[in-house]
Amino acid sequence: FVLICPALAVSGPQILPQSHHSNNEENSELSFLDSIFWMAAPKKRRTIEVNRCRRRNPNKLIKVKHNIEPCPECGNMKLKHTLCGFCFEKVRKETAMIRKQISIMDGGPLNAPAVESVVLYENENPSEADKDKRIIERNRKRPYWFNM
Ligand SMILES: [Zn+2]
Repeated sequence: FVLICPALAVSGPQILPQSHHSNNEENSELSFLDSIFWMAAPKKRRTIEVNRCRRRNPNKLIKVKHNIEPCPECGNMKLKHTLCGFCFEKVRKETAMIRKQISIMDGGPLNAPAVESVVLYENENPSEADKDKRIIERNRKRPYWFNM
């Protein structure tokens, strides 16, 4: 400690900016910034009891969710009565595939016939109501989320 102290005494003044005394304008600007900095500081320390009450306030705690179930398709946890986020991508892709299949059948968007379309999956037969509609057959099993 005795050895370090003289070294600090020598190097200390060199670190301080030299313009501090020479430039009056800069000096006032510095004190102005200082006052802004100290404005944000709390005036009184909050006791640990007050802090605990605030932190453990029921409104601030993370709520426990009970409406969660594993997705029947992929097994990931999801909210009940909502589509699983992991499966959403599959739905998007399947819909895109159906659209593509329709556009191939039509031979272009302008040739689309004015009939309703029905999407049928593997081992499915058209119902009485679907007889007049155009049938789009998918060569795969019906996914659980595609029940229209
Ligand atoms: Zn899923």
